[in-house]
Amino acid sequence: MNSDSKLIRQAAKCPECGTPHHYVEVSFSFANDKGGWEVECRECRKRFTIRLKNPEESSAEGFRILRRFDDDNNDGQQSSAPAASEIVQYSLDINENKLRFDFDSEPIYRCTLSGADLEKASLAELEKHLPDVSQAFYTARNYMLASNVPDCEHAVIPVPVPCKCGSTHKATFYFPLRLNDTPMPEPRQMLLADVEGSSLDEELTGIFSKTFLMGALEKLTARWRLKFDQIVIASPFIAHQYMSKANKLGVWEWLLGIFDPRRTLFITRSSSYKDYKSALLESGLNHDMLVSFGLESQIVGAGTKKQDFHAKVYIGLGDTCEILSGSANLVRGKSLENATFGFAERKRVETRYLDPLGATLPQALPRASHHLAITYDGTKWRADAHEGPSPI
Ligand SMILES: [Zn+2]
Ligand SMILES: [Zn+2]
Ligand SMILES: [Zn+2]
Repeated sequence: MNSDSKLIRQAAKCPECGTPHHYVEVSFSFANDKGGWEVECRECRKRFTIRLKNPEESSAEGFRILRRFDDDNNDGQQSSAPAASEIVQYSLDINENKLRFDFDSEPIYRCTLSGADLEKASLAELEKHLPDVSQAFYTARNYMLASNVPDCEHAVIPVPVPCKCGSTHKATFYFPLRLNDTPMPEPRQMLLADVEGSSLDEELTGIFSKTFLMGALEKLTARWRLKFDQIVIASPFIAHQYMSKANKLGVWEWLLGIFDPRRTLFITRSSSYKDYKSALLESGLNHDMLVSFGLESQIVGAGTKKQDFHAKVYIGLGDTCEILSGSANLVRGKSLENATFGFAERKRVETRYLDPLGATLPQALPRASHHLAITYDGTKWRADAHEGPSPI
């Protein structure tokens, strides 16, 4: 996509059952097609239509587009399905593009044998293979645009990384796949989800600065968004208690920008939650309206708001969950904090972490059935759809 385009996140309600449907509308600075989609409600399966700009380039999140129509062809009038009852634009600047993997900061992926920084080494290997990776990607995407292919949310690139320990590590990079003319991101804009032969429990257990731990949480978020269906963020305070409202809202925007609101459960004290709501109101947003569109409920509304909890725990939820916990609140700083990283079966996470907080998880949205795997067989790169939302 050229730089003159803007992505606008929206939600439209099914006229039959009211279920919100999230999508990204593309807007160009000039020459926009007008039209819409005929879609299937993800809840009641009834058909309805959504009017939007650039129906070809815009994309649905978690529901099916049955047909795209363009007003120039006058084919929209042929739809007998009713129109969406209400449409709202995300008012907060919630954009997954805010999530970055900072390859220049202290690594969380190191070789367990040599101690080498595997993040910078992985990036260097990806850059080396870039021309071939990008050729494989564009060939596959052209094919996907022209034919009926399974639903893929991410493009995933396993990269072999030679190391001074004598073995070759496997790094897993990924990026959101858009079936339009968006260029493949630069290597530094891609997210690193894993490097084999490293040990997160060794690297993330000990005493660290808050700044390091917040950086580590961003890197874990990059990992968990590929690997898991849901993330739990439990923290008694969001930001400092004495920060100004504007600064607090800034911290919330950072959080809402790096986590997917539909897959994240925030658990916080009611005072933090109230702060957030009043900061929202002051910035001209109506919290209840966001709730009715499902934009907000999972992010803070779903949590219990126990006044007496001090736990700080961040969990990627899968069959085997990954847990970072310790003394650090969600804010950067020089102070030294303790941290522990570990693994636990899901059932145990529920009884040991969620039940005591009175938290119930909302059901996870279904994930894409496939991912686009861009793989190297030792001589050449190829890209094709593999089963499952993630290879890790
Ligand atoms: Zn419906
Ligand atoms: Zn090594
Ligand atoms: Zn795969």
